[in-house]
Amino acid sequence: MTEPTRPVRIPRWLAAPAPGWTTSADVVVVGSGIAGLTAALRLRERGATVLLVTKTLLNEGSTAWAQGGIAAALADDDSPQEHLRDTLVAGVGLCDEAAVTALVHEGPVRVRELVTLGASFDRRSDGAISLTREGGHHRDRILHAGGDATGKEISRALLAALDRIQGDPGIEIIEHALVVDLLQDADGRVCGATIHVIGEGEIDGVGAVHCRAVILATGGLGQIYSSTTNPPVATGDGMAIALRAGAVLADTEFVQFHPTVLFLGDDSTGQQPLISEAVRGEGAFLVDVHGERFMQGVHELADLAPRDVVSRAIVRQMAATGTDHVFLDCRHLGKDFFDKRFPSIAASLRENGFEPSTDLLPVAPAQHYASGGVRTDLDGRSSLDGLYACGEVSCTGVHGANRLASNSLLEGLVFAHRIADDIAERFGRGELPTAVPLASTAHRGAAHVEDPDTVLLRSSHRKDIQHAMTSGSGVVRSAESLQATAARLAELAAHADGVEGGPKSWQTTNLLHLGQVLTDAAYRRTETRGGHVRADHPDRDDAHWLGHLRAARRRDGMLEVSYHPVEPASAGAPAAPAATPAAPTSTPTTGL
Ligand SMILES: Cc1cc2nc3c(=O)[nH]c(=O)nc-3n(C[C@H](O)[C@H](O)[C@H](O)COP(=O)(O)OP(=O)(O)OC[C@H]3O[C@@H](n4cnc5c(N)ncnc54)[C@H](O)[C@@H]3O)c2cc1C
Repeated sequence: MTEPTRPVRIPRWLAAPAPGWTTSADVVVVGSGIAGLTAALRLRERGATVLLVTKTLLNEGSTAWAQGGIAAALADDDSPQEHLRDTLVAGVGLCDEAAVTALVHEGPVRVRELVTLGASFDRRSDGAISLTREGGHHRDRILHAGGDATGKEISRALLAALDRIQGDPGIEIIEHALVVDLLQDADGRVCGATIHVIGEGEIDGVGAVHCRAVILATGGLGQIYSSTTNPPVATGDGMAIALRAGAVLADTEFVQFHPTVLFLGDDSTGQQPLISEAVRGEGAFLVDVHGERFMQGVHELADLAPRDVVSRAIVRQMAATGTDHVFLDCRHLGKDFFDKRFPSIAASLRENGFEPSTDLLPVAPAQHYASGGVRTDLDGRSSLDGLYACGEVSCTGVHGANRLASNSLLEGLVFAHRIADDIAERFGRGELPTAVPLASTAHRGAAHVEDPDTVLLRSSHRKDIQHAMTSGSGVVRSAESLQATAARLAELAAHADGVEGGPKSWQTTNLLHLGQVLTDAAYRRTETRGGHVRADHPDRDDAHWLGHLRAARRRDGMLEVSYHPVEPASAGAPAAPAATPAAPTSTPTTGL
């Protein structure tokens, strides 16, 4: 493994005022996307009391933005086995086959439950659910709603179900509640969280919640880059929170860049409009600035090849033609069809001045999905007892080096269910008893500028992090670019002074820590695989890199990164033993 050149220090805490209020529940669910809502609803069915907290409003998060759909082998000519095969191919040798097996076999059941709950998917004229195809899928297995508003409909249905249990004293919901850090007992077991609430009355400012288990369902980290499809709440908080508490993160270098994000110019930053893969699924294709198609011959699925293949081909074509974008041609689909099938995309295109039935649409890859995250087992347990992770924040092993389109909503759904059942069963066995958080964890004073374990970055540095990550740790990387990014991030870390504090500064500090972890892993992985593309190591290297990089904070605060080869015998076998995902084994202490 390429040795690090620069150590990374991760603080144990974000500086925050001492908790001014306390509350308790059996389980704290952090986040209200498909993962958090599904977990909360299922936990209530199983009798646990729940506190559901979300950073802004309940319907804000990536889930509501999902366009294309949710994958499930429902068609007569399809099977979970075929879905498994397509998922493993997209993951380029790094999927955990047991996790994918759970996903594809339980997926259809969970999706049918979603329909029963009230989610209304698009149907054919004969009444059957309409299924389409997306990149990397060899069968029509993508359910969609409102044409291209699948996530909005799923979110609506889950929130309606939550509404139906309003008045249930067993569930409390707090909006504008940002989790800052985790509380742990003397043995390191997670038994609560510190939360900052913009509220009124007793629950306002920083408080402490005591519980028997915490489920992180905080979504992705898109805001770490200048340009992303992710909404503003995607600041990687859950991954950073888990990292600070000592949990293992895995596969962080595998970031998916979506190939067809509307290109609005270099100055356009933040969340950018996505043009779903489903548009190519319906026949749209890519052309370069000269109007030449370039995906045929690159892959047997041509324009519907897996995302990493398409993104890489676009980057190559942009370099060859000296431009910063290519075009998506969907003119032949016709206005009527496009407007009916993709109403939200059509509206967003027109808002930005493009007419899909007559204009070529400028597109370029932008950050879309974090395939890595908090490492979990098949029941969503992290390496810390009492801490679960679910949805995009987690690394269940389902995605490997690259996520197959429309598998992420499904992952949130399937694994949230598994987590709720695991917690309920453990409660039934008397496990996860109430614990007392260490006093020091529960009572941080105001910003400890002098304490290196609590300092914070100012929020004005967010764009510096995004710029450094995009230029050196983005869609195509090299040792040189990664070193430059690592150096810039280290410089920013050195400027953390703890002066500002508050939600913006906490989120910016989370982005910094994750940027450091991701860049470190990307530097070490000297090959190209899935979403990780190295210009200086353009080939896949199974001899050295058929395995996972895991990162964790050591007790002394230094980041430890270790390499874990895929065990050939484990393919198809049950995953690692519950609750004990292996800790890093080697000690090549860290970072660039
Ligand atoms: C534009 C777009 C299109 C997509 N299309 C598809 C698709 O077609 N099919 C598919 O399968 N996937 C798609 N994806 C990916 C998919 O939407 C996400 O991976 C998935 O919705 C993640 O769900 P989640 O529940 O893990 O997180 P999210 O839905 O992102 O929810 C995270 C929640 O956590 C909250 N939160 C975050 N930090 C904190 C904190 N510190 N304290 C409290 N709360 C916090 C947020 O406010 C939010 O409520 C798309 C993503 C985008 C952005």
